[in-house]
Amino acid sequence: MEVSHFLFPHDWRTVRVPEMPSVFIKTYGCQMNERDSEAVAAQLVAKGYAMTPDEQHADVILLNTCSVRDAAEQKALNKMETLIGQTRKRNSTAVLGFMGCMAQSRGQELIDQLPDVDLVLGTQKFHRAGEHLNSLLTGQRNKVVDTSEEAGSEATIREHLLNGASAGKAVTAFVSIMQGCNQFCTFCIVPYTRGRERSRSIKDIVGECHELANGGVKEITLLGQIVNSYGRREIGVKDGKSAFVQLIEAVHEVEGLERIRFTSPHPKGYGDDLVEAYACLPKLVGNAHLPVQSGSDRMLKLMHRGYTRARFLELVSKLRAVQPEMGIGTDIIVGFPGETEEDFEQTVSLCREVKFDNAFLFKYSQRRDTPAVAMPDQIPETIIQERHARLLEEVDAIRGRKRREYRGAQIEVLVEGPSHRNAARLEGRTRCNKIVVFEGGERLAGQVINVKITDATRSTLYGDPAIMNLN
Ligand code: SAM
Ligand code: SF4
Repeated sequence: MEVSHFLFPHDWRTVRVPEMPSVFIKTYGCQMNERDSEAVAAQLVAKGYAMTPDEQHADVILLNTCSVRDAAEQKALNKMETLIGQTRKRNSTAVLGFMGCMAQSRGQELIDQLPDVDLVLGTQKFHRAGEHLNSLLTGQRNKVVDTSEEAGSEATIREHLLNGASAGKAVTAFVSIMQGCNQFCTFCIVPYTRGRERSRSIKDIVGECHELANGGVKEITLLGQIVNSYGRREIGVKDGKSAFVQLIEAVHEVEGLERIRFTSPHPKGYGDDLVEAYACLPKLVGNAHLPVQSGSDRMLKLMHRGYTRARFLELVSKLRAVQPEMGIGTDIIVGFPGETEEDFEQTVSLCREVKFDNAFLFKYSQRRDTPAVAMPDQIPETIIQERHARLLEEVDAIRGRKRREYRGAQIEVLVEGPSHRNAARLEGRTRCNKIVVFEGGERLAGQVINVKITDATRSTLYGDPAIMNLN
């Protein structure tokens, strides 16, 4: 599981207002969690708190947690134990809290297990962080567990921290368009931690995008567990267009934005209107993260995914027909209960057939309350490990070959800022979501430029500054 330390090109963790309690936030998991952390940080800064990257001296320490796999939960629990040991020695009044998915699913249990924890904040309660911290820091309350449902919470992840940065202004931003999931895949805990689907209004989302564009943002990523389910009940289909396509069209009108991305769409509801949007809307970049989970129809049915291998392949063909250079990524689970060697080979063959630009491979992890836990034929860990390693080798080789094909190509890159690995260089993304590293001055941040690709590794493309078009 990924852990974000430097989540944004603009490092909001260093926003400082002197002599106010300082707050350290660590984020585990997906982009939605990153976005939630940013919204909490923005909320606290507006109340006068100081964000700090220094967990050793913070007055408030918050871990924004992920429950999708057991390893992510264990990481956050271990981290909290370490923090308790370090923090309580130096500051008996510091506030320690869990937020997000694990906070939602475990609630009071977390305080029973770790009595030094003061705050447990659920996934519909991020906007209440400030008021709860205030009551804890002023001694009005001793412990707070707030995990109840709250109507309208989907519209509260709205504020950003765009300018608080040591590392310059933000060029890209995440925009949360909805919360929850109604799909109930049999392996997944998300519907239990994030609740049912609730969508924000198009007007509210477009308003946020205008503010971001006015703040200098050039690229936004629309976020949701199943983005293409956006507004199904609240907005519905108009003129043959789904609510999600209506939303993309409205965001497309926002002046100043150059690129629109979204993640994750579900293959099941990927309609022709959305496929056609790539042809009609130039700001919509040619990239699709399409979690397939398995190449075996038998597994897909047991997983309750709602599509077949053939339907998935048909969708990939339609997308590539509209945009041959489309970057296609995926998520795959290895070792779902009952997965035979033959089922697994179907996944390997699907990967060979599709040639994903990117694939995140996950070892199946049993999650509480999910139907898959009670399914027969749970796969032994050793077999899961072995299949995972085999598939990883396969998808890495495919990715490497695809990346190498870019050598010599002239490619459009949105410059995001200094490279994460080497701050002396710049980093940007292609329209199909590939990271490109090249040399150049920071004044290029926010510009769309053409870079000639000179080298490629499995994860990164490199451009030659000598032949870079700086205009
Ligand atoms: N909503 C997206 C979709 O279904 O298309 C995915 C969101 S989920 C939080 C991210 C990924 O985590 C999933 O695509 C799946 O591959 C993986 N995942 C979810 N539950 C898992 C489990 N119990 N064990 C292993 N991986 C899991
Ligand atoms: Fe989880 Fe399935 Fe919903 Fe994705 S679609 S969040 S995998 S239940």
